[in-house]
Amino acid sequence: MKGECSCGSVRYALGAAVQGVYYCHCRDCQRLSGSAYHVLGIVPRASLQVASGQLSSYTKTADSGHAMVREFCTACGTPLFLKGTRFPEIVMFTVSSLDDPEAIRPGFQIWTASQRSWSRIHADVQSFKRGALDEQGESP
Ligand SMILES: [Zn+2]
Ligand SMILES: [Zn+2]
Repeated sequence: MKGECSCGSVRYALGAAVQGVYYCHCRDCQRLSGSAYHVLGIVPRASLQVASGQLSSYTKTADSGHAMVREFCTACGTPLFLKGTRFPEIVMFTVSSLDDPEAIRPGFQIWTASQRSWSRIHADVQSFKRGALDEQGESP
């Protein structure tokens, strides 16, 4: 699968099967998306190939309590990748940046504790109040 940012300068390819797809309702994903949540996919970090463009990043301690590195296009600011220091072997990508976002669909949702009341997911997906790996704030 391939994807790009809004301005098209960053192009990337995923060289492995997607391991999971989820809605994230954390406050950072809300602010960064300018909307109610991000939809993120998980792939092995080594399988992500950035073919063109320039990425910028910043690091912040997420609601989970772990440092998260968020990467975005330097030119247009589109959020593209999310790397958790606690999960060094995987990277999350924004599903909406895929060339074909219909190719995959979310299977669960996390951080519903901060889900907006005006944005309920009408889907039969598994829900986690906090992170998915356990209820102690682990994320993705
Ligand atoms: Zn861009
Ligand atoms: Zn989030």
